[in-house]
This record gives sequence, structure tokens and C-alpha cells, in this order.
Amino acid sequence: MELQFTKAEQEFRDEVRTWLSEHVPRERRPRDLRAARDFDLAWQRTQYDAGWAGIAWPVEYGGRGLSLTQQLIWFEEYARTGLVSIDSRFVGLAHAGPTLIARATPEQQAQHLPPILRGDVVWCQGFSEPEAGSDLASLRTRAIVDGDDLVVTGQKVWTSFAPIADWQELLVRTDPDAPKHKGITWVICDMRSPGIEVRPLRTIPGSAEFAEVFYDEVRIPTANVVGAVNDGWRVAMSTLSFERGTAFTIDQVQLAMTVDRLIELARQRKGFDGRPLIADEAIAGELALARAEVSALRAMTYAGVSRNLTSAEPGPEGSMFKLFWSELAQRVDRLAMDVLGAGGLRRRDESPDAEWIERYLSSYANSIGGGTSEIQRNIIAERVLGLPR
Ligand SMILES: Cc1cc2nc3c(=O)[nH]c(=O)nc-3n(C[C@H](O)[C@H](O)[C@H](O)COP(=O)(O)OP(=O)(O)OC[C@H]3O[C@@H](n4cnc5c(N)ncnc54)[C@H](O)[C@@H]3O)c2cc1C
Repeated sequence: MELQFTKAEQEFRDEVRTWLSEHVPRERRPRDLRAARDFDLAWQRTQYDAGWAGIAWPVEYGGRGLSLTQQLIWFEEYARTGLVSIDSRFVGLAHAGPTLIARATPEQQAQHLPPILRGDVVWCQGFSEPEAGSDLASLRTRAIVDGDDLVVTGQKVWTSFAPIADWQELLVRTDPDAPKHKGITWVICDMRSPGIEVRPLRTIPGSAEFAEVFYDEVRIPTANVVGAVNDGWRVAMSTLSFERGTAFTIDQVQLAMTVDRLIELARQRKGFDGRPLIADEAIAGELALARAEVSALRAMTYAGVSRNLTSAEPGPEGSMFKLFWSELAQRVDRLAMDVLGAGGLRRRDESPDAEWIERYLSSYANSIGGGTSEIQRNIIAERVLGLPR
């Protein structure tokens, strides 16, 4: 395992840093969902036009075809810009696109990968259902093969970005009589198909990108099936390995910067005794621990990238990053509330510390989205450590 960057990689980093500093959008990302979509896609188009989209994606689909180490360098420099890491481009770039690269036909790749990189489209993920979250293989949204189409009826829930999505990575049950992992199909669904209804759901921090999606005899061409009919579980495992293994890399790097900013905040803010909060031994101890742990997280990320350099998909070890990052981020965001003290109780829209309050409210989702912490622990136990079920 090589943890040093080469001279060429350092030069690549300088190039990325310079380009980002000159081109990162200066205006704030809008709160309105449609306006945010336009903002995100315009930013993606700027990256694409300058040759910075899809650092490690194949050249034939508009990517740069560079190494995962260079991709990591891009993520690290991107994290430094302070831009949000999960926006409406997330599903397409971080897990639908990589799944298509790993599993789709050349025709499907040619149709879908370039628009993702160019910033023409938004994707969403239709996996979870009201009775199938952690136990995803219990999903019941049904699809019947009718000529050249699948006819889909059922419901998904917690579908991020569904209200503004063009395409969806959708899991459906095509054989209700087969063992539950064997009767599932992964299919590309056009979100504008007749019979789809999207009902937005509001989150604790007030954002509206979440939705329930209902399907009433929605016709999807069988040509959109990725892998084969009834072989969707294998494809879904690819998607989840990207979602847990690499999709949160920017967040992992941003967490280190968040801890540094929190240390600075604790230097500036005063406690009841008039001394800076950093003088409080309990708070200083927790900040020091958080800083040590983000260093450990970064070492884990580097080790993971090293391992992934020799494999097409991240392995089950991705669950270790997801678990460690999500729980550490929650502790850091909780610690920020201790530093803010009573200020953390102010209404977000009236507070000068709105960003910290929003981070704290959003952090509850970290250990649920992409699979809960309990499920990550099960995966680590069974598939990484080889313990019995
Ligand atoms: C921010 C966010 C974004 C999301 N985006 C999407 C999206 O775009 N598309 C999508 O399809 N889904 C999405 N989800 C849904 C997410 O994948 C599910 O919420 C998650 O898989 C958990 O499923 P559930 O909510 O049904 O909880 P349940 O599965 O009902 O779990 C409830 C509790 O029981 C525990 N539990 C369940 N089974 C076990 C077990 N075997 N062992 C131990 N404990 C267990 C869980 O850990 C949890 O604490 C998102 C969720 C969040 C929070």
C-alpha cells in the first residue's frame, strides 16, 4: 500500500486547486429545489466543459480515464471549496453512473453516461419501500413482463431528489415465487413515464428533496433492464458498494475541515466563566479526540482507495467507512451544539450559527441513509470478519 503522493500527483493537485479556486460558483446554492437543480447542473456543465467531469470514468463516455488516486485528489480539493457534497448530481455521479459502468450494456452506457457527466440530467434511487428498508430484498413493487415492456405497480419511499429527477435506478419484483433475492430486477426508469406520481416529504431541517413515489401500471422497456430480469440483486449490490464505499469520500474529507473550524469556534466563543470554551477540559478533550479520529478516517480512506485500485468495485469494507464516518460526523455535529450552548436552541433562520444548526439537524440521517449503522455492523461482521450470521 502506497500512502505517499507522487510528484505527478502533487502537480495534478495543484492544477485542480487552481482551477477550482478560479471557477467555483461564488453565489449561494438556492434553497428552492428546482432552482437548486439548475444551479447544480450548471456547475456540472462548467466542470465538464473544462474537462474536469468524471476524473476516473472511461474516456469513451466523456470521462478523463485517470486513476482512483487522482479521483481522490479531486475529492480532497473539492471538499476544500466548502460546496455541499450531496446535491442533485449525487445519485448519477456517485452510484447510478458507476453501476452502469460496471454492469450495463454498451448501448445503455452510451445513452446514459454522457448526459450524467455533461450535467443534462438528474437521477434518483428507487430502492426503499415502506416495508423494505434494511431488509431491501423484501421489496414488493411488482413488474410484469408484457411484450417488450415491464409493467410496474407499487410504491417507493425516501427517494431523494425524486421531485426533480429525470431518471431512476429502480428495483422491482419480477418473480414473486422465487426466493426473495432471486426475483428482483434493476431497471432504468424514466421519471416522466405516465403512471408515476411523486409526493414530496419534508425533512427535519426543512428541505423538500425527499419523496414517496407511486407507480400505477408504469410501462418501462425491457431494454432498460441492467443485468438480466431476476438478476437485479447482484446489480443492486454493486450500487450499494459504490454508495457505501466511495460516494461519501467528499464528506469524509470535509469532516476534517469541519473539526478544524469547530476548534476555531471554541477558541472564539466564551463560556459562563468568561474564558474561551477551548479552555474547558471536557470540550478540548472531545475536540482533540475528534481531530485524531478524522485522521484515522482519512487513513482508512487512503487504504480503501489503494485497495480499490486493483478492483472494479469497492468491497464490503465500504461499510466500515460508512459506519465510522456517519457516527463520527454525528458526534462532531453534536459537539458543535455544546460549543454553541444556548445559541444552538435559536431558530435556524434567525441564528448567525444557522449552518451549524442545520448540520446538526441533518446529521441524524447520516446513520440511516445508505443503510443503517446496525446493518453496516451486520455486513462488517459477516462479510468482512467472516463471523456467523
Ligand atoms: C437522508 C436519507 C436519504 C435516503 N435516500 C434514499 C434514496 O434516495 N432512495 C432509497 O431507496 N432510499 C433512501 N433512503 C432510505 C434508507 O435507505 C432507509 O431509510 C434505510 O435503509 C433504513 O430503512 P428503514 O427506514 O425502512 O428502516 P427499518 O429497516 O425499518 O429499520 C428500523 C430500525 O431497525 C433496525 N434494524 C432493521 N433490521 C435490522 C437487523 N437485521 N439487525 C439490526 N437492526 C436492524 C435498523 O437499523 C433501524 O434502526 C434514505 C434515507 C435517508 C435517511
